[in-house]
Amino acid sequence: MPEGHTLHRLARLHQRRYAGSAVEVSSPQGRFAASASIVDGRVLERSEAHGKHLLHVYGPDATVHVHLGLYGKFAEHQHPVLTPTGLVRMRLVGATHWTDLRGPARCELLTDVEVAALRARLGPDPLRKDGDPELAWAKISRARTPIAVLLLDQKVIAGAGNIYRAEVLYRHGLHPLLAGRDLPHEVWKDVWTDLGVLMRHGVRTGRIDTVRPEHMPEAMGRPPREDPHGGEVYVYRRTGQPCLVCGTPVAASELAGRNLYWCPTCQPA
Ligand SMILES: [Zn+2]
Repeated sequence: MPEGHTLHRLARLHQRRYAGSAVEVSSPQGRFAASASIVDGRVLERSEAHGKHLLHVYGPDATVHVHLGLYGKFAEHQHPVLTPTGLVRMRLVGATHWTDLRGPARCELLTDVEVAALRARLGPDPLRKDGDPELAWAKISRARTPIAVLLLDQKVIAGAGNIYRAEVLYRHGLHPLLAGRDLPHEVWKDVWTDLGVLMRHGVRTGRIDTVRPEHMPEAMGRPPREDPHGGEVYVYRRTGQPCLVCGTPVAASELAGRNLYWCPTCQPA
């Protein structure tokens, strides 16, 4: 599933391409047709993201909410506009570009009350200016739940996925099973700030890099990492490979149905 930086990247792209002028909205597949007809031809006021949720705001009580889920994808093209192929849930046509959305978990038209309810269910997002780390801290500081589980809980903090979770814990020397309530407040503030820095880099570059300059391939004289997700990381999907800092083989296990990676030496229990 895409992590939050991907949604913020899409939100920015759609803002640049489509906001401020009238857009054609349709649903060639039909499943979103009734809602599409309500916003079709209107001006897209703005495009924004909260965690893994994308919001296209057309005006009062007219926000299109998209959650990509595991299979959702936008494909963007320059004009000319071509005949739809496959199951296109939503098509957005602007002055110069058009984009097709296929396979989302959610694509729906929401009222302002529904948008507020959606956002109220989500934790703060480190990529949003209104993201308040203290809202997350209120939940973390009371929880017996491991910090690794809390970081993936979108109700606690919105946007981080499995890669950022593994990497930020590594960068702060935190064992994944540390209970939320045993995390010092100062450390949480550092983790939040660091997540923001890492995720903003992800928004800019479209890939997840989490290693410090001294651990980049050139600095260490090692070959770049080969992995479909790209990016230089410390522990994510590096099971059994030596830790870039201490050489200990990276450990892996499963926690709450998700793969977990850590360095037993740099992140002691
Ligand atoms: Zn290590």
